[in-house]
Amino acid sequence: MSKRVLIVGAGYAGIEAAITLNKRKKKDDIEITLVDKNDYHTLLTELHEVAGNRVSEEAVRISLRSIFKYTDVKLVMDEIKRFDLDNNTLYSEEKEYPYDYLILAMGGSPNFFGINGLKEHAFTLWSFDDAVRIREHIKRCFTLAAQEKDEAKRKRLLTFVVAGAGFTGVEMIGELAIWCKSLCKEYDISRKDVRLVIVDMLPRILNTLNEKNAAKAHAYMEKKLGVEIMLNTKIKEATEDGLVIENGFIEAGTVIWAAGVRSSEDVDRIDVEKLGGQKRVKVDDCGRTQHQNVYAVGDLSCVVDENGKPYPAMVENAIQTAHGVAENILRDIRGKEQEKVKVKMHGIMVSVGNYFAVSEIMGKSLPSWLSILMKFFVNCHYLWEITGFRGVARYLYHEVLERRQRKILIEKHWSTRVQAWWLTPIRLFLGGMWLYEGIVKITEGWFQDTKLASFLGMTNDASSSATVAAAYITRTDEIFNLKTGIFNFLLATENRVVDSTIVSAENLVRIDLFNFGDFNLVPWFLRNVVLANDGIAMFFQVLVVIMEIAIGLMLLGGAFTFLASLASVGLMMMFVTSTGLYEHTWWMFFASFATMAGAGRAFGLDYYLIPYLNNVWESFWKNRKFRLCFKRSFDRYD
Ligand SMILES: Cc1cc2nc3c(=O)[nH]c(=O)nc-3n(C[C@H](O)[C@H](O)[C@H](O)COP(=O)(O)OP(=O)(O)OC[C@H]3O[C@@H](n4cnc5c(N)ncnc54)[C@H](O)[C@@H]3O)c2cc1C
Repeated sequence: MSKRVLIVGAGYAGIEAAITLNKRKKKDDIEITLVDKNDYHTLLTELHEVAGNRVSEEAVRISLRSIFKYTDVKLVMDEIKRFDLDNNTLYSEEKEYPYDYLILAMGGSPNFFGINGLKEHAFTLWSFDDAVRIREHIKRCFTLAAQEKDEAKRKRLLTFVVAGAGFTGVEMIGELAIWCKSLCKEYDISRKDVRLVIVDMLPRILNTLNEKNAAKAHAYMEKKLGVEIMLNTKIKEATEDGLVIENGFIEAGTVIWAAGVRSSEDVDRIDVEKLGGQKRVKVDDCGRTQHQNVYAVGDLSCVVDENGKPYPAMVENAIQTAHGVAENILRDIRGKEQEKVKVKMHGIMVSVGNYFAVSEIMGKSLPSWLSILMKFFVNCHYLWEITGFRGVARYLYHEVLERRQRKILIEKHWSTRVQAWWLTPIRLFLGGMWLYEGIVKITEGWFQDTKLASFLGMTNDASSSATVAAAYITRTDEIFNLKTGIFNFLLATENRVVDSTIVSAENLVRIDLFNFGDFNLVPWFLRNVVLANDGIAMFFQVLVVIMEIAIGLMLLGGAFTFLASLASVGLMMMFVTSTGLYEHTWWMFFASFATMAGAGRAFGLDYYLIPYLNNVWESFWKNRKFRLCFKRSFDRYD
């Protein structure tokens, strides 16, 4: 009989556990069921970007069906209400879920530390709905403030307080501060009328980072973003009108509580041992609770390091504990000894709005720009693992192209979109031209005789450098010449002259790279490598023809259009740095750039090919089985 593994919670931990079990189960007879109250996975680490209107809410929610579509994981959307661990059964309102192994992965929830009024009057940032609620509330505050005549009420509406200066609080106020600039513009409100406050009882912000990084973020928030930072300030109560602090009252229309975290409140109803104020579930080295077939992972569990200190409630901990526990369940099923769950934390990154971040990776502080890139990279890596290319593309689309709020000028331009079909005519024309060029070369005998040297103007025999060389001489008149040695740019007119009369003229562009004295890198390379002997020259010559035909066919069919366009740019670059590029072919260079922008997705094979390849990858990655044809392998992303 198959072993039933039940996972509750499809957060970072639950997903990792399910994917690991599916991937590693091989011939084990296991039934994996993943239950979550939502039908989507939330990228909790990016919630502040939704709350602060940097990205659409769709950027942080990923359909669970799409994550598990090529796996044997059974997905159930339901909320577990009762946990009967003695009888190996969980219950929702309507259903019961018996199991042989249980993984508790319900994550964390805000910790109000018993402070009065917080639950009722403060916003929290701990779920998809929370983030959308905050964003809509902030917009409402500005709308109301713009029409409010009463000065005190207006001031209250325009005061936003974030309680807690850990990474969640800092990221939240940072987003808000950036968004505020465009909100002020939109609602015709002076930025001076808006008060942004962050409060913490500790003497500094970001106490998980070193002092230098915390000070950098502090200075940026205060000086660049105009945030008031109140440290050493104890919060006593939240009311409908604001926040009661130790030495006074901050009148505010918005209080966001980001100061504490604990395990999911479900834990209070589960018969397992909990630790400390955060009530995280006590587990042994192997991730087991006191019930030997019940494991706890992620924010919910309390895995400790060699000094007995709990690992922080963060994504790395969630993924690694889940991975370790999934492996242990497989070991147990196979009758093997379970192993210690290994956790290795690599670092922390905190963004303060779009354009500033601090991070410490493996004990090293990174500069702001690198921290921003690292955050992108880490998210891309995670999404690649669970959704393949399409998740990464979707994430970058929201973060780079579809970013909301105030955009710098260049961003505004690059984020303007067009439908892919507008590029279809230029793709077909460009493809047709490459195919034509290749076919002409074949008819000219490029597969039979060496032609490349004369084509590149590098033959030693002057009369053969042009087919009708004897009839005219070539004179080059410079129009513009930029010479730096490393990079020379020449714009000239090439005239064909017969008896001192110009019979034809064409403009030409040539770029020389590393041209010092007699040394000119590209011609040198061509002469000494590509044309080193007839055999090698013939090889490259055939290669050029094959490339031209392949690029042509790929562009015509719209298959791997990006690669074909890149190769097209490459060939044009080769010509411009060797023979020079004549005016009648310049358009091909710019057209190749245009077709890189997904021109094959409309009326081209890329429409099917790219999703198919992604699906093959996803299926392989999640099952560790390579298959080319399987159910739903041609599914598109949408
Ligand atoms: C705003 C914010 C910013 C953060 N930034 C960072 C960061 O930059 N770096 C970092 O490492 N960490 C960050 N974290 C922490 C990180 O998000 C958590 O450590 C991580 O989400 C924990 O993963 P998890 O799987 O344990 O829980 P979660 O991701 O919380 O998943 C729990 C899942 O369980 C489901 N669930 C709960 N109860 C039930 C039930 N009874 N029945 C069915 N389903 C249930 C939920 O719907 C959810 O899908 C941040 C957190 C927040 C809120």
